Amino acid sequence: MTAGRIVNCPQCGATVVWGPQSPFRPFCSERCRKIDLGAWANDEYRVPGAAPPDDFATPETTTTPRE
Ligand SMILES: [Zn+2]
Repeated sequence: MTAGRIVNCPQCGATVVWGPQSPFRPFCSERCRKIDLGAWANDEYRVPGAAPPDDFATPETTTTPRE
């Protein structure tokens, strides 16, 4: 079995040894792991003040033609 497989940190691109000595793999450090986790938890996937789609009509605003 080959020991010492090298991967790249997804956050900063540093080389990381894929092994017990790298508890934060595939990240190089806890810092990079938290940056990556925080990215989608904080801002990346949040759109503050985004307007709902126009086709999402609410019952109050539906304009149903009547005869
Ligand atoms: Zn890193």
